[in-house]
Amino acid sequence: MQNEKKNALIWLRKDLRISDHYGFYNASKNCEKVFAYFSFEPDNFENTKWGFKKTEKFRTLFLIQTLTCLKDELKKKNITLIVDIKSAIIGIPKVIDSLKITDLFYQNEWTKEENNVSDSIKKSISKEIKIHTYYDQFLYHPNDISFQLDALPEVFTIFRKSCEKNSFVRKISPEIKALPKTNLIDEEFTIPKLKDFGFSEFYHVPFSAFPFKGGSKSGHSRIKNYLWDTKKISTYKETRNGLVGKDYSSKFSPWLANGSLSAREIYWQIKDFESKVKKNQSTYWMIFELIWRDYFKYVSLKHGNNIFRLDGILKKRYNWKSDHKILMSWINGETIEPFVNANMTELKKTGWMSNRGRQNVASFFSKHLFMDWRIGAAYFESQLIDYDVHSNYGNWMYVSGVGNDPRDRKFDISWQSEKYDPQKQFQKLWIK
Ligand code: FAD
Repeated sequence: MQNEKKNALIWLRKDLRISDHYGFYNASKNCEKVFAYFSFEPDNFENTKWGFKKTEKFRTLFLIQTLTCLKDELKKKNITLIVDIKSAIIGIPKVIDSLKITDLFYQNEWTKEENNVSDSIKKSISKEIKIHTYYDQFLYHPNDISFQLDALPEVFTIFRKSCEKNSFVRKISPEIKALPKTNLIDEEFTIPKLKDFGFSEFYHVPFSAFPFKGGSKSGHSRIKNYLWDTKKISTYKETRNGLVGKDYSSKFSPWLANGSLSAREIYWQIKDFESKVKKNQSTYWMIFELIWRDYFKYVSLKHGNNIFRLDGILKKRYNWKSDHKILMSWINGETIEPFVNANMTELKKTGWMSNRGRQNVASFFSKHLFMDWRIGAAYFESQLIDYDVHSNYGNWMYVSGVGNDPRDRKFDISWQSEKYDPQKQFQKLWIK
């Protein structure tokens, strides 16, 4: 039902899309005016105590491209995207006042830094503002799972089987109708450029495994290409441990991490592909991996900020080091292991690393070098185009023996190198 008095502000965080979006869908149905807001939180672009930036140039560029695309898409629906370089803590209360916002919509986040921002905003806005929050980042919505959060299985397989048996994936929400032209604000908000964050323009290296642009549009093209045009998804299970090129795996993670693609959209496309083209172990395995992604979100929902503790969620103690020289040799690809060095060089030059590479370099960092795993995780956070707090810290804990792997495993790097890079094609690419 249309309510003449309601003005909605959609505060965008890691849900940088318009399709399959609870906020846009409900606000456009129920409110007279709808505005969108995004802030480049200044803290995310500061230096860390380890000497690298919290967000390096690769993810920054992807984010800029994502917002550029989103701004265009929103304009087609006559919705203005307000872009801020101040913290949302300062920006949102101002926008609420100036646009007479009655309803604030945002996706729930629950980790430390994200909570600090949303808690401060809640404190500084009028109690009259109606707040609508949602969990659009999941495949299996928290309201649709069959267990209480505190009974979340500590083993992935039990979690997965329970979801597959007792839960379901919601349908994606229909495309929203355009609002009247009068919904647009008479002010153009510019999206900052790389140089505004202290970075120079750069080009992707020609053989980068992730040569794609940010934004839902390129994300949808990637789905089209990986599923429908090339049907690569139907061999995913055989290729997913690959190291070279753009097609050994889907490369969906950067779009998923900033929410320019929704996990449900991908899921339903896979289901469609299965019914129209082919259903096999590979198509299932892609869904299996998306369930891993959900699992790490549930792990952090359950364990809260313990995912950032040195002893992790297992509360297991080891003797960790934080030696700067050792750290730099790992970062710069100057360790005794050529396979680690090649992967670390790829990460440094492209912002990308395969899953096989990530497991190896992380295991080497924590299990061979005995370095505080959180420093490695922080470096990944800095470099990765697809950095996602839950998947990153969850996987790092897992590999480092303080997470959800009851076995305390250590990768044999030479064996891994022989198995996954027998001709040294990958190592030759990155080590000159
Ligand atoms: P595909 O193999 O095509 O898989 C499809 C999707 O499934 C991925 O896009 C991703 O959303 C999900 N997925 C696959 N593997 C995993 C996994 N192990 N854990 C969680 N989700 C998974 N992934 C991130 O998205 N962000 C991170 O910051 C991140 N940090 C990691 C750190 C370490 C130490 C390790 C070992 C893994 C990390 N991963 C992270 C998980 C995984 O490496 C990437 O999701 C995957 O390599 C992305 O490539 P893809 O999209 O081609 O994946």
